[in-house]
Amino acid sequence: MGAVLIDGKTIAAQIRERVKEQTAAFVAKTGVKPGLAAVLVGDNPASHTYVKMKRKACAEAGIESFGFELPATTTQQELEDLINVLNIRQDVHGILVQLPLPDHLNEERVLRLVNIDKDVDGFHPENIGKLAMKGREPSFVPATPSGVMRLLDEMKVPLAGANAVVLGRSNIVGMPVALLLVRRDATVTVCHSRTKDLPGVVRQADVLIAAVGRANMVKQSWLKPGAVVIDVGINRVDDPSAKNGTRLVGDVDFEEAEQVAGMITPVPGGVGPMTIAMLLENTLTAAKRIVGEATPSKA
Ligand code: NDP
Repeated sequence: MGAVLIDGKTIAAQIRERVKEQTAAFVAKTGVKPGLAAVLVGDNPASHTYVKMKRKACAEAGIESFGFELPATTTQQELEDLINVLNIRQDVHGILVQLPLPDHLNEERVLRLVNIDKDVDGFHPENIGKLAMKGREPSFVPATPSGVMRLLDEMKVPLAGANAVVLGRSNIVGMPVALLLVRRDATVTVCHSRTKDLPGVVRQADVLIAAVGRANMVKQSWLKPGAVVIDVGINRVDDPSAKNGTRLVGDVDFEEAEQVAGMITPVPGGVGPMTIAMLLENTLTAAKRIVGEATPSKA
C-alpha cells in the first residue's frame, strides 16, 4: 500500500487564506497595513525568483511589501545603513534579508542588526539561541523549519518519544528543525556529510526530515516501514521528457519511498509552499505585536 501524501500545497493555501482574513480584520481594526521589507543584494537568479514569489504572496494576503534590490557591489556599510532605516520605519513590520549574501558581506553582522521584533525570518542569532534554550521563546521561528513542524502537526504525527532523524545541519533548515523536534520531546539524531552508515541511522527514524540538497539520495531500503518522511530538498535534475528539459526532485527517491513510508511529502508541493505561508504568518504576527495586538509566540 502506498504512503499517505502530505499535501503541503493545500495546507499552505489554507494558511494563506487564514492570514488574508486575519490581515483584513487587523487593518479594519487598527488602520495599519502589515508591511514586509524584502532586501536582496546581487544577481542570484534563484534569490530573485524567491523574493518575487514572496512579494506576490504578500500582495495576495493584503500585506504591503517593499522591495530593496541592491547591486552586488553594495558595501557592508550601505547594507547596514538600509537595515537601520528599516528597523525604525513605522510602515515596516517585518524585515527579510534574502540569503545568501554576496561573499564580501558579513552575513552574521547584517542578521544581528535586524530589529528582533521585525526578524520575521527568525535568523537573528538571539532568536536561534533562544530556540536552543529550555524555557525561552524565540520571537520568530525560521519559516522553512516552522513549515515542517506545521505539516507534522496538521497530519497529527506523534512526536513525543518518537525517533526523529534530521539529514542536514544547516543554520536555515537542519539545525532549527532539530531544535524544534527536541522541544517537542522527540529523540533527535542529526546527520551530516561525516555521518557513518547513513542508511542504518535513517532506518531508526519514525520521522525523517531530509534537508541535504542531494537529488533522490534516500532510498526505500533506508526507511523503516511506516516512517513519516518530510523532504525539504529542492534539486533540479535533467528530464528530457519535461518541457524545459529539467524537473525538480527532493532528497528522497519519492517513487521508491512512497511504497514503504507511512506518510510522505512530494517535491514540489510539500515543504516549499509552506515556507512562504509561514513567512506571511510571521509578518502578520510582527505587525500585531508592534501595534500591541498579540502575545509572544510559542515555538
Ligand atoms: P546546505 O547545503 O546549507 O546544508 C546541507 C546539509 O546537508 C549540510 O549539513 C551537509 O553536511 C549535509 N549533507 C550534504 N551532503 C550530504 C551527504 N551526502 N550525506 C549526509 N549529509 C549531507 O543546505 P540547506 O540546508 O540550505 O538546504 C538543504 C536542501 O533544502 C536544499 O536542497 C535546498 O534547496 C532545500 N531548501 C528548501 C527550502 C524550501 O522552502 N522547501 C528552503 C531552504 C532550503 P555538512 O554540514 O557536513 O556539510
